[in-house]
Amino acid sequence: MERTLSIIKPDGVSRGLIGEVVRRFEKNNIRIAAIKMINMTKIQAQGFYAVHKERPFFASLTDFMSSGPAVVMVLEGENVISKNRELMGATNYKEAAPGTIRADFATDIEKNVVHGSDSPQSAAFEIGYFFNSFEIID
Ligand code: GDP
Repeated sequence: MERTLSIIKPDGVSRGLIGEVVRRFEKNNIRIAAIKMINMTKIQAQGFYAVHKERPFFASLTDFMSSGPAVVMVLEGENVISKNRELMGATNYKEAAPGTIRADFATDIEKNVVHGSDSPQSAAFEIGYFFNSFEIID
């Protein structure tokens, strides 16, 4: 069993896509072990995306991620890190495979509806960034 962090980004929440995204996880046998809505501060978003701090889009990305409510989830299942990345589709929605969340709903390379950890190391950091152990249900 593996765990990963998923975020329905502010564009996904404001466009009413929470149910649609959660449905896709549940339909694919991914268990939701924790879920909450947050409104990140700019500082929180900067800390979360610290690996991207040298990238030209860092300021814009952290503005966007702190622009409104987001839903953060801990997903659990076999190979859930790669399974979630498959369901999400490529970062650039124009390159995302048909039927993926980003191909179906993203409007922009930045406003791409969902986030998912890309490795066990980033999953451990990202889950711990938003959840304490009492909030994750076994
Ligand atoms: P992810 O793991 O698929 O989310 O992609 P990355 O870790 O490479 O990038 C993190 C997030 O930064 C993406 O999900 C986008 O929201 C944003 N992003 C990535 N590339 C670009 C870009 O070229 N321009 C802008 N504005 N945002 C980007």
